[in-house]
Amino acid sequence: MNAIDYLRISLIDRCNFRCQYCMPEGAELAYVQQQDWLTRPEILTLLRAVFIPLGFTRFRLTGGEPLLRPDLAEIIGDIVSLPETQDVALTTNAFLLADQAQPLWDAGLRRINISLDSLDPDTFQAIIGRPGKSRWHEVWAGILAAHRVGFSPLKLNVVVIPGVNDHEVLDLAGLTLERQWHVRFIEFMPIGNDALFGERGWLPSEEIRQKVRDRWGLTEGTVRGNGPADVFQIPGALGTLGFISQMSECFCDRCNRMRLSADGWLRPCLLNENGQINLREQLRSGVPLPEIRAQVGALLAAKPEINYKMRESGTVGAYGRTMSQIGG
Ligand code: SAM
Ligand code: SF4
Repeated sequence: MNAIDYLRISLIDRCNFRCQYCMPEGAELAYVQQQDWLTRPEILTLLRAVFIPLGFTRFRLTGGEPLLRPDLAEIIGDIVSLPETQDVALTTNAFLLADQAQPLWDAGLRRINISLDSLDPDTFQAIIGRPGKSRWHEVWAGILAAHRVGFSPLKLNVVVIPGVNDHEVLDLAGLTLERQWHVRFIEFMPIGNDALFGERGWLPSEEIRQKVRDRWGLTEGTVRGNGPADVFQIPGALGTLGFISQMSECFCDRCNRMRLSADGWLRPCLLNENGQINLREQLRSGVPLPEIRAQVGALLAAKPEINYKMRESGTVGAYGRTMSQIGG
């Protein structure tokens, strides 16, 4: 059985993009009020007194868009300074990264995942639902800044949507030929935009792998990280390819993570709200830390059964929040 030692911490549910598959323009999301965000000291307290004693050692900061969180670098510094921390990573759309890459590195961050769904500024603009072709260029500048500063492995996330960006999978895979980057193709999930999912469906990872095989060949590879990606490599390429295939190949039984939302909800599973606990309310109403730890411990103990049930039922269960709200 997997050790459950990986916590994804959403720092904010807002975003400066409106990706079609995540938080499409017009979909009204009830944002968490800023006073309800877990504060920097609350996050540190929860890690020190609850999660680390229960065996969590690896953390990812996400959102919404975490670069919008004003105290991001300080939160990273706090987590890095904990002696038990083995890994801290960040997932971002990179729009604000060109200026923040160096301060984040200086704060101690060493791993970063960047969403990049297209190499074409027009397609990119259509996907992110925000006007201005310059956004792609800002994101690309952010990626290059992260590369320059030394982030490694630099991972690029691509959500593949049939008829929108699937014609670019070889161009995106080709980024790894001469760069030591890790390009990960993610199967589109029906969470965030059911209408788009119904209209476009999703592309199985194996179809992408076959396209790459036909063009260059493909061998198995390895990359450092915590994720469920299957890793491959184009022969002779400097970088690697990853495939996150939660639609075609349920990996719930291997799940090693829990998720903490910006407003403090701890959920044991992306697609399942059963058993979730609001840790912010507990902290602010003065519930003693050992008691909070006992509740989280009980949820942790229940997780293998939750994973098993998700595996049996197929991945896509009931959910009431989008990826941007949960912390994808
Ligand atoms: N804003 C940051 C970003 O885009 O990288 C971090 C948060 S975003 C919610 C985290 C990841 O969730 C991104 O890689 C995004 O592509 C993925 N995601 C969001 N909605 C998705 C969906 N419906 N299916 C698959 N992946 C999705
Ligand atoms: Fe924002 Fe990331 Fe969702 Fe796109 S995927 S809307 S960048 S949170």
